Amino acid sequence: MGTILQKNIVVMKFGGTSVANTEAMQNVANIVASYTHKGNNVVVIVSAMAGHTNQLAKLWQQISWQTNSREYDKLMATGEIISATLITEILKNKGLNAKSFSGMEAGIATNKKHGDAEIIHIDPTNIRKQLRERGSVAVVAGFQGFIRNSGDTTTLGRGGSDTSAVAMAKALKLNKCIIFTDVDGVYGVDPNIHTDAKRIPLISHVEMLEFAKAGAKVLHEKSVATAQEANIDIHVLSTKETINNNSNEQGTVVTSNQYKIYDRNSNVVGVAVGENYHKCKVKLLGADKNIANMLKENLKRGVNLNHDEVIFNIYKNEDEIIGKILHSYASKTAITMDKNLSTVAIIGNFTQQQNQTIADEVVARAQSILHSNAIAHTVESITESCITIALDSNYKELAARLMYTELVANN
Ligand code: ADP
Ligand code: ASP
Ligand code: MG
Repeated sequence: MGTILQKNIVVMKFGGTSVANTEAMQNVANIVASYTHKGNNVVVIVSAMAGHTNQLAKLWQQISWQTNSREYDKLMATGEIISATLITEILKNKGLNAKSFSGMEAGIATNKKHGDAEIIHIDPTNIRKQLRERGSVAVVAGFQGFIRNSGDTTTLGRGGSDTSAVAMAKALKLNKCIIFTDVDGVYGVDPNIHTDAKRIPLISHVEMLEFAKAGAKVLHEKSVATAQEANIDIHVLSTKETINNNSNEQGTVVTSNQYKIYDRNSNVVGVAVGENYHKCKVKLLGADKNIANMLKENLKRGVNLNHDEVIFNIYKNEDEIIGKILHSYASKTAITMDKNLSTVAIIGNFTQQQNQTIADEVVARAQSILHSNAIAHTVESITESCITIALDSNYKELAARLMYTELVANN
């Protein structure tokens, strides 16, 4: 089937604010139509309407604290189904040949990790079938997939629709995926934190991955990792400003084509702010190390076990489950907590050049900025592409603004 059809397929994703209400959905339909009218076939990946997934999560929390189950995922996945059906109907009203697809109908198979599943394979047969006719549209519910042997629904972790989109582009053998969102690209720091932040027209997958890991939610971490691995360019554009302009000059292109990356006059590309957390240190008074396994299993991530001490971070919504685990070990442990922390990460290229230790210099400058503003902090980690600093969460936005101004804008 292939080449003629393939050439004309465009995969584009619209996030929650872009589909927040039926008026916003009309705008999405206009964007989609502007592509179909040029002869493209479009795969639209949609998020739930803004705030909807949070509402579903709150509803769930009234009943259970466990967010890694079949029923939790089935509930959470409904938000995207709602927006997919509504947008499809709007497209049909415009005279387009459109059809909605759940994650399962779109062939998105994942592993069994409820609440944070990984896409393992996409069979795009149904999508290709829908796209046979020129100018047709497949509207796919993002953020979800299914487990092949049970048919159970899974979700990909909060913000996961970006990953659905990039994975779909990969399955359709495309080299580009468009992510429409509420900002007109990736900025050196979240533009909602710093009004003077500048858009980055081109950024490498490696740098973007650091931004995403450090908490810049403009792109879901797994979407960038998938794009990097499959060599797919992600074009981040604003839903609001795109339609009448030349989109190639807008937004941000996330790419591996290094030759495209313009010469930067600073080693620092940007700054990202992480989620709030409490740092918890559990001293084991007995020989029982099982608590570390319990924590790992329930948090679905590694914890640091150092001789007789377990160290881990507690993020939003994890208090209850961790409280229960710690309570059951109360007689065998001594617990200390550093509350309300956050990280500010400085992203860039800190590879050592001609014996110059760039990372050390950047760390020294960052620390001096923080010292002169009386912001207590700890340098958590230093790599060739990211310097992570922990501080009181009340100062995270101020710290990010100061770092951006001093290390990126004034450079
Ligand atoms: P969507 O609902 O479209 O998926 P998100 O809210 O997930 O949108 O991501 C867009 C948001 O990401 C922006 O509104 C912005 O506040 C935030 N953001 C964080 N860091 C950055 C950054 N470096 N550049 C642009 N946006 C950023
Ligand atoms: N609706 C989901 C969330 O809010 C997925 C997404 O928006 O990408 O996390
Ligand atoms: Mg998002």
